[in-house]
Order: sequence, then structure tokens, then C-alpha cells
Amino acid sequence: MDIVILLGAPGSGKGTIAARLASEDSRLRHVSSGDLLRGAVAKGTPAGVEAKGYMEKGALVPDALVAQMIKDVLAETEGDVTMLLDGFPRNVAQAEILERTGAPVRSVVLVDVPDEVIAERIAGRRTCPQCKAGYHVKALPPKVEGVCDKCGAALVVRKDDNPETVKDRLVVYHRETEPLVAFYEAKGLLRRIDGDQGPERNAAAFKSVM
Ligand code: AMP
Repeated sequence: MDIVILLGAPGSGKGTIAARLASEDSRLRHVSSGDLLRGAVAKGTPAGVEAKGYMEKGALVPDALVAQMIKDVLAETEGDVTMLLDGFPRNVAQAEILERTGAPVRSVVLVDVPDEVIAERIAGRRTCPQCKAGYHVKALPPKVEGVCDKCGAALVVRKDDNPETVKDRLVVYHRETEPLVAFYEAKGLLRRIDGDQGPERNAAAFKSVM
């Protein structure tokens, strides 16, 4: 097992890239900390109850809580698998926790998209609450409006995708997560791709550097 970390702002498309690559190659496994947390909130687990308020504000949930979820996934992952880690680590403290697990990080890919593009992307974002597939009303529409192509569930707008919360999440990204670029660059692990080429080319670019 090894790990490829996807770095990028909310709305950079890293989740879309990871989901696409994982659907094409059974040795790739997409692990999204946001999806794990939203699952815990929906189930009402103790971790979910604690995380809910932070998430709705666009703040980061406590490191220990999210790190434990990722450690659980790492512990149950065996064999010839590359984990596409999406949304974790989100700050240097989490990167250090990941390092201490000893899990091998193969590379860290920054999906680079300007903030102006991000705001527009998130405004059109739609998500399947059931199978977690992501869509965009213009850039990646489902075949039938409002309905998931993969499982038929009704698509939703994520609670934290409203414009005010998006602004806060971008501030958090620049303050907390962007320092990871230098952190991983210093370790010689960082690669960058232009995340504004459209879903298919973004995924191909990612695959070629990961
Ligand atoms: P995402 O789906 O990655 O945009 O995550 C949605 C929300 O979940 C974030 O705005 C945070 O509140 C929370 N979250 C996801 N991953 C992490 C993490 N690694 N550390 C702290 N909070 C996280």
C-alpha cells in the first residue's frame, strides 16, 4: 500500500479527479476525509456529532478526530493498493500525524486553480448524497437534471457550499493548508498540475505525475 495526497483548495476538483481515476483502476482507492466526516454526521456517531458544527461554519474539525478516521482506513487497507488521499492532511500538524503512522507517501499533487475560478465552480456544484458522485451544472452535468447518473438519487447542494461559507473555507485553505506545499516540496514529494483544463484532462495530467 502507498499513498498519493491530493492538495488543493475546496472546489479545485481534486475529489473529481480522485473519483475518476479510482473508477478506472481497481488498485486505486479514493479516500475523502470530507466524505468520511459527512458519513459520520449523517449516521450521528459521536465523531459526527462533534464535527458537525465546525463543518457547517467551514472551519476545520479537530485534528485528532479526523486523523483517527484516516488511521482506521489505513489499518483496514491491505495489498497492492494506492490510496488517493483527498482532504487529508489539511494542515502541517495532520501531515506530521500521517508521517508518524509510517504509511509511505509516494507523491503529493497540488491541483492548482485560481480563487476566482473556484467561486464559480462551487456555485454550480451538485453532489450525490448516496454514492458521493460529484457534478457541476455546467462543466459536468448529470444526464438527467438533478439526478445521479450512477445511482439515481436526487442530487443536493452541500450545506457548506453557500457563498459565505465558501469564502471562509478559502481563507482556511490559504492559512492552514497551503503551508503543506512548502512542507512537501522540502521533502521532494511535490508535483503540480493545472486544474483548469476540464475534468478529463485534469485527471490525465494528475495520473501522469502521481
Ligand atoms: P471537504 O469535503 O474536503 O471540502 O471537507 C468538508 C469539511 O470537512 C471541511 O470544510 C472541514 O470542516 C471538514 N474536513 C475535511 N477534511 C478535514 C481535515 N483533514 N481536517 C479538518 N477538517 C476537515
